Amino acid sequence: MIASPLRLRLDRDALVANWRTLAALSGRAACGAAVKANGYGLGARDVVRHLAEAGCRDFFVATWGEALALADAGVEVSVLHGVRAEDMAVAPGARHARPVLNSVQQVRRWRDAGGGVCDVMVDTGMNRLGIRPEDVTAGLLDGLEIETLMSHLASADEDVPLNARQRDTFAALKGRSGARRMSLANSAGIALGPDYALDLTRPGIALYGGVPSPALAGRIGQVVTPEAQILQRRLVPAGESVGYNATWTAAVDTEVAIVNLGYADGYLRCFSGQGRTRAGDREMPVIGRVSMDLTAVDVSVAPELAEGDWLAFDYDLPATAALSGMSQYELLTGLGARYDRIWG
Ligand SMILES: *Cc1c(COP(=O)(O)O)cnc(C)c1O
Repeated sequence: MIASPLRLRLDRDALVANWRTLAALSGRAACGAAVKANGYGLGARDVVRHLAEAGCRDFFVATWGEALALADAGVEVSVLHGVRAEDMAVAPGARHARPVLNSVQQVRRWRDAGGGVCDVMVDTGMNRLGIRPEDVTAGLLDGLEIETLMSHLASADEDVPLNARQRDTFAALKGRSGARRMSLANSAGIALGPDYALDLTRPGIALYGGVPSPALAGRIGQVVTPEAQILQRRLVPAGESVGYNATWTAAVDTEVAIVNLGYADGYLRCFSGQGRTRAGDREMPVIGRVSMDLTAVDVSVAPELAEGDWLAFDYDLPATAALSGMSQYELLTGLGARYDRIWG
């Protein structure tokens, strides 16, 4: 295989350290890992392998396609979107995966098929996925073999009364369903404190270097750094412009590197004139418009950089989110398929 001209540098030790930090903050609760959307773009199989080695036992994906891709990973997977009619060909027989049932119809579908162990999502105020708390107390789940009863916080990254309301509504269901465990907190929910951890936490973004709440600042390490190779180095004479729509004009003669990275790789147009790159201890700015596959960088401070050399792009998630106006989640999940993903 040909090496790609762009790569994600992925820090295994930082991933594992982030999980350990979140596990410690989860107290006596088990700490799982959300690995949907291909492990938030990092590569679900490698994320699962590293976290399973560290002791993580509970993994969450969105769809059965994602679950089947982990069939030989040696871990148990919960499928957050439950079971559609189309999923019933594989779901009841999948030994490594179980659905998180979300609706009355999904509960019936699973029970009618004699489906076996499952999880169940209860909606406590987000009005996204889940059955209503009254459905639980009315006995909808009677007779199901439930591993984990779950709910999901709408605003865990904010200090608002809805958090405690959701927690209290959910906690009142303890003992009402036969579920072995209760689970409420995502990354930001863990930071809300021990009252939210219950039996199992489900962090995603903070595993991968995201800081969704001020309480986690300084405790979460960066995991992902995009790097791209220089395709061409050129001198742009004073007065000439660079890139689509000529948004940047050289004030003085400027050394420019054109690198193999663009918005098709998730390096979006909001980084035009905003992004920063590094080689060694030199920092260099992105200039002009980011195009689909190419980005220009002012490399005047690095005379030795040549075609074939690599630049690292600043991608500290909180800082990059502030700079770009993108969410930390979008910054990760938008990273495309053209990167080689290199764990170190
Ligand atoms: C994605 C997801 C998580 C993880 O959320 P983060 O904010 O990334 O920590 C947890 N639970 C559910 C139901 C999710 O969909």
